[in-house]
Amino acid sequence: MKENFKVLDASAFIGGYQPTDKNNFTISEVTEELKDIQSKMIMKNALKDELLKIVEPDHESMATVETTIKQSGDILRLSKTDKKLLALSIHVKKVYGNVILITDDYSIQNVSKLLEIPFKTVLTTGIQRIYGWKKVCKGCKKEYVDEYSFDDCEICGSPIFKKRIKK
Ligand SMILES: [Zn+2]
Repeated sequence: MKENFKVLDASAFIGGYQPTDKNNFTISEVTEELKDIQSKMIMKNALKDELLKIVEPDHESMATVETTIKQSGDILRLSKTDKKLLALSIHVKKVYGNVILITDDYSIQNVSKLLEIPFKTVLTTGIQRIYGWKKVCKGCKKEYVDEYSFDDCEICGSPIFKKRIKK
């Protein structure tokens, strides 16, 4: 089977994309963009399990992205992080022979087309989530259903946190 190499942007983690093999890449800036507990946890675990590598794209790939954006004539609203992710996709394709950019971000998808980088949204990856979360009280360990919308335990008032579970 052909191996697929994936570049993940912040929206991939936020969308709940779970790396399941060792062919996942991102850049350090994405680490700082993740604010919610769930996506931070996905990234932390993926790094710990060595399913995700943080790589700096090379200068040549960065230059390709800059040139393409300029030539397109559009004023494309891309942050430095977005440009670096696109450059990383070019870089990974160069090194490993293929790449898929996993992103739910429309601006990034548009430039991907110009750069001929194949992309997928989190929904279309078809990757099954291997982990789930359950809500558990920090104090009395009472378990709550996902729909429970309060931050505190109804029994003891302690904060509720999301615990990772294997499905
Ligand atoms: Zn409790």
